Amino acid sequence: MQFKLSTMITKPDFQGEFTASILAAAASPDIISFAGGLPNPVSFPIPEMEAATKKVLEENGVVALQYSSTAGWPALRQWIAKRYETMGVTGVKPEDIIVTNGSQQALAMVGAAMLDPGDKVIVEDPTYLVALQSFHVFDPEVLPVTINADGIDCDKLAETVKANPDAKFAYLIPNFQNPTGLSYSQEVHDKVVEIFKGTNIMLLEDNPYRELRFAGTATDSFGADLGEQCCMLGTFSKIVTPGMRIGWICVRNEELRAKLLSYKATADLHTNIFSQMVLAQYLADNDVDAHIEKTKVLYKAKAEFMMDCLRKYLPAGVTFTPTEGGMFLWVTLPEGITAVDLYRKGLEKGVAICPGDPFYEVQRNVRTFRVNYSNSTDEAIEKGVKILGDVCAELIAQA
Ligand code: PMP
Repeated sequence: MQFKLSTMITKPDFQGEFTASILAAAASPDIISFAGGLPNPVSFPIPEMEAATKKVLEENGVVALQYSSTAGWPALRQWIAKRYETMGVTGVKPEDIIVTNGSQQALAMVGAAMLDPGDKVIVEDPTYLVALQSFHVFDPEVLPVTINADGIDCDKLAETVKANPDAKFAYLIPNFQNPTGLSYSQEVHDKVVEIFKGTNIMLLEDNPYRELRFAGTATDSFGADLGEQCCMLGTFSKIVTPGMRIGWICVRNEELRAKLLSYKATADLHTNIFSQMVLAQYLADNDVDAHIEKTKVLYKAKAEFMMDCLRKYLPAGVTFTPTEGGMFLWVTLPEGITAVDLYRKGLEKGVAICPGDPFYEVQRNVRTFRVNYSNSTDEAIEKGVKILGDVCAELIAQA
């Protein structure tokens, strides 16, 4: 039987195919994987969640097991709205928050609510590969803008915005960007605000790693300066648990909010209410900031250990961008060898990295790759980086 499939899903999906092959390769128990982006399970508050689950079922079981409202559980929306005060944004109301099935769903919702085929979307280059995939479903023209060590390249961004005032939105990850681990400096942040002010381009800020900063200071959310022109995505995935699939979008423009809600209602009616209520109970009964502090101590140690190993075992000519938080490091190979070469050879020797290619809209056979440090033991980090160093040296010798 041959079904006629929609062009939306059958057109080439470079990012999707690449991701699937990396995940499949890295799933083997014999492989040391730096390819994924998993939080360390040591950071999961299991007994606290058990207590919260029990309480929700005992005190509010009928509500937790019933259908619920599309926008989300009020107590959770209230908590999220208040959290924006720590990001410099005041006056966020619980009604501005839509709880989503991970922030991933919010990316798809924004695509569905804003994009027609051929519409323009500005992204960092490289950017989060599954955001690219989500937007590509709607067949937009994606306009990539280089990201530098201190954030997006403001000259190129200004040029792009000037040449494309009809762009629908710009997707930016200002803290510990995925894949590069880079953050925006205050100067870049201020310039970005100036570039977008007065345009009709929505700034879609994605900020899953902001709370995982173990050094330096974070810039305020773009929503502090841009008001309703900025929609802010957030998630509990990196600070509490990814498995409960709770994220959100803060959207203060009423027309857009109504459209997002109507799309979400048709997509899934609402986000898992049981998860939302357990999470809200957990947040009410526990000190989540203390929990995040513990996770940061762990990730700082892991990041520093991996950076030490990279300095020790990678041959001259291979460089990396140091980080002050998040979950990733971004490594650049010397001229003449590609990250895909390293990925293939590394896998043969038992180590998986994530080559940069699927994070770029256009560039292929790049020399950059991403490594994750949050979810490996120190032994695995040292062993894996040593193997990568040997493979790099071999590839350099052959180049
Ligand atoms: N945005 C970015 C930049 C991410 O790295 C991720 C997860 N890796 C997500 C969004 C989606 O996260 P979640 O759906 O778990 O909230």
